[in-house]
Amino acid sequence: MSDVLIPARELNFLLWNWLDAEALLDRPGQESHDRETVDAVLNLSASLADRLFLPHFKDADRHEPWVDADGQVHVLPAIAEALREYASLGLPGAGFSPELGGMGLPALIVSASLAQFMAASLATAAYPMLTMGNARLLATFGNAAQIAAFARPQIEGSALGTMCLSEPQAGSGLGDVRTRATADGDDALGRRFRLTGNKMWISGGDHDITRDIVHLVLAKIPADDGALPEGTRGISLFVVPKWLPGGGERNDVSGAGLNHKMGYRGTSNCLLNLGEGRHQPMGAPGAVGWLVGEEGQGLQLMFQMMNEARINVGLGAAAAAYRGYRHALGYARERLQGRPLAKGGSDGGPVPIIEHPDVQRMLLTQKAYAEGALALVLYCAKLVDEEKADPAGAELLALLTPVAKSWPSEWGVAANDLAIQVHGGYGYTRDFDVEQLYRDNRLNPIHEGTTGIQALDLLGRKVLRGDGAGMAELGDRIIRTASRAEGHPALAEWESALLQAWDELQETIAVFRSADPVRVLANATAFLRGFGHLVVAWLWLDMAVTAIAVEADDPDLAAGKQRACRYFFECELPNALVWLSFSRSLSDVAAEVPTTIF
Ligand SMILES: Cc1cc2nc3c(=O)[nH]c(=O)nc-3n(C[C@H](O)[C@H](O)[C@H](O)COP(=O)(O)OP(=O)(O)OC[C@H]3O[C@@H](n4cnc5c(N)ncnc54)[C@H](O)[C@@H]3O)c2cc1C
Repeated sequence: MSDVLIPARELNFLLWNWLDAEALLDRPGQESHDRETVDAVLNLSASLADRLFLPHFKDADRHEPWVDADGQVHVLPAIAEALREYASLGLPGAGFSPELGGMGLPALIVSASLAQFMAASLATAAYPMLTMGNARLLATFGNAAQIAAFARPQIEGSALGTMCLSEPQAGSGLGDVRTRATADGDDALGRRFRLTGNKMWISGGDHDITRDIVHLVLAKIPADDGALPEGTRGISLFVVPKWLPGGGERNDVSGAGLNHKMGYRGTSNCLLNLGEGRHQPMGAPGAVGWLVGEEGQGLQLMFQMMNEARINVGLGAAAAAYRGYRHALGYARERLQGRPLAKGGSDGGPVPIIEHPDVQRMLLTQKAYAEGALALVLYCAKLVDEEKADPAGAELLALLTPVAKSWPSEWGVAANDLAIQVHGGYGYTRDFDVEQLYRDNRLNPIHEGTTGIQALDLLGRKVLRGDGAGMAELGDRIIRTASRAEGHPALAEWESALLQAWDELQETIAVFRSADPVRVLANATAFLRGFGHLVVAWLWLDMAVTAIAVEADDPDLAAGKQRACRYFFECELPNALVWLSFSRSLSDVAAEVPTTIF
């Protein structure tokens, strides 16, 4: 097994020691799973990721998807081969109920499994990641016929899915989508429509991995005078397959071109044309689609898939950061260069660079970012498992979702940047994997809502609006961690630092409540940074307490967690206080800039 994926020892600590996954397996509906079956799934995931995903990591970057003369997109055959085996093992259905053809595993376990595939090849893992979200949305909001026709094939692995939100003129501002849907009668699948428009940036929008592709498309239904409804409330959701059910007829949805990306290249990324008349399903042009849910509910329903995708973007960012760290660690143990500071450079020849304090700093930073990011996302996956039974946990999940998306993305890229630095000049070449990990990971702060949009969501919607239940739950859990740390002298310092940071966060929010909302939101990204670092500091302290319990079994792991916790509190948490204080100052330095100065 390659040592660049996430070690079983790490996942065991997170799942069984820290997050108490066993308690999830004791719940109703989990009778057929126990620790042994879950370990089998996780071992299988690690070995499949190693055997079939990791080997094509570089080839998928070198040989981008391409379009043939008929307009069909092709991807590297090794990607299709890996995903076929992934499907044959039932993994696309791991998180779905047995009634839907799945294994019924908790989201936490599914995330831990997916993380290995993401570490091996982020681009290949993107196909099942999107497919699971698509199928889950249909399983939640589709009618029985739609579930049978479109969700089941994705769960069984014979079709892949997409999310079609963005358009050339509508990215962050989805209220401006212009794809239109006109009524075309009713049939067994529900209300049928014909869609025309252009969707931009669609990951997995076309490929030859599976014959069918299930698109979930946001579009607007025009009024009688042809005008499209304004804003996000006018958006509806449609399921638009590449092939009409029954298999015979090609739908009028086609790839109009591929985007050539910096990284993440194995995932085809398409401009899709709907209703351009290239195909004539049921004898007429126009992409055939069926309404999911009610008219005007589109964005609201799509939020289920977006929230899942946001957590999974964070998971991918954490996995890429983790793998970069593993590469840097391996390299630092082997690369001989320089003499130890203490020995005055006079004896013994060059030493492994891992012995230099500055290299240790870079490794420890990566460890704190990568393991902290993975912990954050798995913590949120557990909240997904608990949300139905625990309303306060559900509020916390909503609060943390923009953090789970953006913190791993921002700091995962920073970790990959350091992995390159540890490799010196070699890291800057394509002969080593770390430059590709950096390029792959650089997408994550952009798609599924940019970091700036996550900041507005966190501060504008989650913190300042609503009844504060998510914040109250976060405060309770932080206090619980602080009291867990209380009895341990080595952790007492961090316990008080965490509580002080929490007080500063409260103070910041109190200032925001009586300030000009425009100025408040202008400082949202500094707030997100401070908030994110505080949350990860909390999780580091919580893990450090748990690590005490595993000291006897695995002293190196325990010491590693405690050192990374200390690093986070000494070197990272102080930044959170600076960012919070800056956001609280309601500075106009970058808020009301005359655009003529640029
Ligand atoms: C490789 C890739 C894969 C993708 N996959 C998919 C997919 O499968 N399906 C899909 O639907 N979309 C997909 N996207 C689209 C992605 O979600 C958008 O690129 C993203 O939401 C940003 O939209 P935009 O590119 O139009 O940038 P813009 O919205 O034009 O944003 C440009 C900049 O302005 C900032 N900005 C914009 N509005 C505001 C605001 N109100 N306040 C503050 N700052 C703002 C943004 O933060 C950003 O920094 C993908 C994109 C890429 C690059």
